[in-house]
Amino acid sequence: MDCILVHYGEIGLKGENRPYFERALVKTLRQFEFKKVYKRYGRIVCDLIKSKENKEPYLNKIIEQLSLIPGITSFSFAIKCDLKLDNIIKNVKQIIKNKKFDSFRIQTKRSNKNFKHNSQQTNTIVGQEIVNLGHKVDLDNPELTIYIEITEVETFVYTRKNKGIGGLPVPTAGKVICSLSGGIDSPVAAFMSMKRGCQVIAVHFFNSTQNEAGLLTKLESIAQELSKIQLSLKLYTVDFEQIQKQIIMNIPAEYRMIIYRRFMMFIANKIAVKEKAKAIITGDSIGQVASQTLENINAIYDASQLPVLAPLIGLNKQEITGLAKKIGTYKHSILPYGDCCSYMIAKHPITRSELDEIITLEKNIENKKELIDSALENTKIKKYNLS
Ligand code: ATP
Ligand code: MG
Repeated sequence: MDCILVHYGEIGLKGENRPYFERALVKTLRQFEFKKVYKRYGRIVCDLIKSKENKEPYLNKIIEQLSLIPGITSFSFAIKCDLKLDNIIKNVKQIIKNKKFDSFRIQTKRSNKNFKHNSQQTNTIVGQEIVNLGHKVDLDNPELTIYIEITEVETFVYTRKNKGIGGLPVPTAGKVICSLSGGIDSPVAAFMSMKRGCQVIAVHFFNSTQNEAGLLTKLESIAQELSKIQLSLKLYTVDFEQIQKQIIMNIPAEYRMIIYRRFMMFIANKIAVKEKAKAIITGDSIGQVASQTLENINAIYDASQLPVLAPLIGLNKQEITGLAKKIGTYKHSILPYGDCCSYMIAKHPITRSELDEIITLEKNIENKKELIDSALENTKIKKYNLS
């Protein structure tokens, strides 16, 4: 194989902005181990490194990596040749040489309208050559599909499409701040935002007097997995010890979770201003836990000036878990280091809070501004890169 042919459905639809999206995807792909990456008439071609093009670990790594890159709908290992029909046939024969199959079909796509045969004719001519080798045509349910793509300057031949996650390339949508717990949900929310082209900056709140070591290692592993999707991930870890203390001292147990999450919102907003991020992302899903009734979501999101987006809002736990496994965060999320706020939650937290009541209660915490500023000062920033 010579190259990887990358297809990107949705960004092709963006009219005048299309080059902007294409450039972002090319830039992303240039971070991987390819000889050369370039645009070619509605596709992106990534030339493989010659000395490695038959090496399985190299190829498997590429498959694994591109399967999670936002903006890619599918990608294929392809042979490249010129526009001569004879060479195209030669390459088709080459690509099927070691393949066992009975039935097949050819699917030609021709963006080069000057090529002397149209797609249908090319299917027929090349197909006849394969029939002559003893295979039979089955257009509906073939064992093998041979794809031929004829562009203005070269032809690509391949037999397998690897599915990508689709969406839009990072960072075309702009920056967002994702409130990242050690749980199953918020890493998936980060992934969903990345899939729509957002550059995610993660913020985690923890209590430095608790089991930080275990928790932070877990967070690091999650950040490392997420950096496979976005190539790098900045993680802010905010020490919440003082705020937590004040909340415990001043707020009745059943309301603490809401106030606690409001403070997360205040701080996430401050970080957003610094980072020029345009929204806050959470892993909330309606009704999943007590803090996630519509009333409580209302009371929590009220603390944010920026829009709060919750990409998992309509997903069931099982769907979220499926996605967490797909992106590799699940195995870290289920490690037994609890969220820093889990110990301070009441057995029966309030499920239908009133915003007015919450705002009144919050006034019990007098040094709110100082607490927030000091938590921000006690924040560590670390960047995780694709490994
Ligand atoms: P998750 O699996 O993401 O923790 P959850 O179902 O356990 O979600 P909660 O613990 O109520 O639900 O958290 C809801 C959302 O609040 C999380 O998805 C996350 O966005 C945010 N959040 C909760 N705890 C933290 C934390 N310690 N640091 C950062 N964000 C948090
Ligand atoms: Mg949680």
